Amino acid sequence: MVDRVQVLPYFFGNITREEAEEYLRQGGAGDGLYLLRQSRSFLGGFALSVAYGRQFYHYTIEREMNDTYAIAGGKSHRNPIDVIDYHSQESDGLVCLLKKPFNRPRGTEPKVGPFEDLKEQLIRQYVKQTWNLQGSALEQAIISQRPQLEKLIATTAHEKMPWFHGKIDREDSELRLRRSSHVNGKFLIRQRENNGRNVSYALCLLHNNQVMHYRIDKDKAGKLSIPDGKKFDTLWQLVEHYSYKPDGLLRVLTETCPRPSQDSVLGATGGILSRIKSYSFPKPGQKKGHTENPYNFRLNLRGELPKPNFFSTEAMPMDTQVYESPYADPEELRSTTVKRSDLTLEDGELGSGNFGTVLRGVYQMKKTQKVVAVKILKNDDNNEAVKDEMLREANVMQQLDNPYIVRMIGICEAENLMLVMELAELGPLHKFLQKSKHITMKNITELVHQVCMGMKYLEEHNFVHRDLAARNVLLVTQHYAKISDFGLSKALTEDENYYKAKGHGKWPLKWYAPECMNYLKFSSKSDVWSFGVLMWEAFSYGQKPYKGMKGNEVIQMIENGERMSAPPDCPAEMYDLMRKCWTYKPDERPGFSVVEPRLRHYYYDISQ
Ligand code: ATP
Repeated sequence: MVDRVQVLPYFFGNITREEAEEYLRQGGAGDGLYLLRQSRSFLGGFALSVAYGRQFYHYTIEREMNDTYAIAGGKSHRNPIDVIDYHSQESDGLVCLLKKPFNRPRGTEPKVGPFEDLKEQLIRQYVKQTWNLQGSALEQAIISQRPQLEKLIATTAHEKMPWFHGKIDREDSELRLRRSSHVNGKFLIRQRENNGRNVSYALCLLHNNQVMHYRIDKDKAGKLSIPDGKKFDTLWQLVEHYSYKPDGLLRVLTETCPRPSQDSVLGATGGILSRIKSYSFPKPGQKKGHTENPYNFRLNLRGELPKPNFFSTEAMPMDTQVYESPYADPEELRSTTVKRSDLTLEDGELGSGNFGTVLRGVYQMKKTQKVVAVKILKNDDNNEAVKDEMLREANVMQQLDNPYIVRMIGICEAENLMLVMELAELGPLHKFLQKSKHITMKNITELVHQVCMGMKYLEEHNFVHRDLAARNVLLVTQHYAKISDFGLSKALTEDENYYKAKGHGKWPLKWYAPECMNYLKFSSKSDVWSFGVLMWEAFSYGQKPYKGMKGNEVIQMIENGERMSAPPDCPAEMYDLMRKCWTYKPDERPGFSVVEPRLRHYYYDISQ
């Protein structure tokens, strides 16, 4: 949403009330003149400033629990732009109708708040420290998990601020404030002892050598405020506010009282949020003093992964064992062969296919054990062609390394030919969705976006998948999808951007683009077509596409220019994207480099 609002000419970003009033004055302050700005108290919220009768009125547009927006107590809307449109027709509690937007003067960009500036840096640092990632693994983590990471950062960032002193008592805070400089407005925030009840804090402020202690309470909705004061989502917003306005305090906050370990780097303030020293973020869910990340799905003593119901719905892909390649650790030497003695197979099939069965197993690596999926070729009559097919699949998989693609760990030649792969415990996407009607559209969007990231990687590396469908997307957790089944995949040559099949085979026609059928031509663009069908399957909770129709009827339908209709309750933006994927001519069809950012922005929009 921020992206769409950002480009509005009357959006001013992180400006104060006073700055907003000054702008409206510049615009003549006629009745109903308005501008939009970012809320300085609520995460993801906005503020509307309106002129009326030579006075100024400010309304907070809050983002509500179900991702809608409303002026407190007013009607809910899909986004802040709709709120403005509505109040241009109906005053409905506002001082007057919104008549005319005041646009930013030429050359003025929306003002970036101090936290926005820091956010990028903090997210990067957080991902690096928490999951020990770098390079493309780090980038992919940030792209796919940005909404979750932003929320984490927003609510834990105060722990990184020099003014946050943690659990110290009143006396200690006074000693610290009186140490060295005695500037009026010097401050710190401490966490109060509260007998295990709701967390509360205290803002400690030095004035004329006296220390004032203001209690900061958290209400039921999680909003923070000093008694009878303005409410905030985070401590850093509260500090920003009181450092430009006393608003009930004895005076404004001026200088940060540094935590003792930071004495040497802190002198004059130079901005409340500045002067951050290296600091370790607590990992998600980590209690102070604990070093283990509770979401780190390590093996239990029997060499198993925790059972699926243990997987927290909050867990991120990076919390699992299969985000990075097992060979990302330089001490684990990469090898395409797996010794039979290092592999233990377990009873119970994960699934089966034409070739044989897939079992769960444990692979003993140099440093760790990994739970794995093992595809076992049945090959009773020792058919060389089937064996070759599996080796070709292994050869493709071996060249790929992406968090959203099932990685091959190695080939094991023993009693049977076996393909050892990363385990995606929750199985195929369509089956999972068929039995999980409670999964939200946001969750589905998150998963298809991850598939799209994996496909973008394939496109960039000149591979065509040729069998992209919901049945070939496997879930590691409810929030983590991987593309699998590279049995039909091909690496393209430098000079050709498509693969020409030698003849029709046992093809998944309902997922195939017209040029595959008509000219036997397969490219990343034909994978995009299949991706559109996969999106349709996902947004219809695992329904069969073109239900009840035969392959040739589907071909006829496509040739006639008809397409599947939108699944029930499918967001319009997502159906529109499916239709783009089903553009008849491959040259006019978008590639994954276009589809992925569209999906990403929609996902960010609904997640904020
Ligand atoms: P198809 O016949 O659709 O081409 P296939 O014969 O190539 O499929 P796969 O799709 O590779 O077989 O695997 C069959 C089933 O085994 C999957 O649907 C899934 O349930 C399970 N499976 C395969 N790979 C994994 C994995 N890495 N982790 C967990 N389960 C897996």
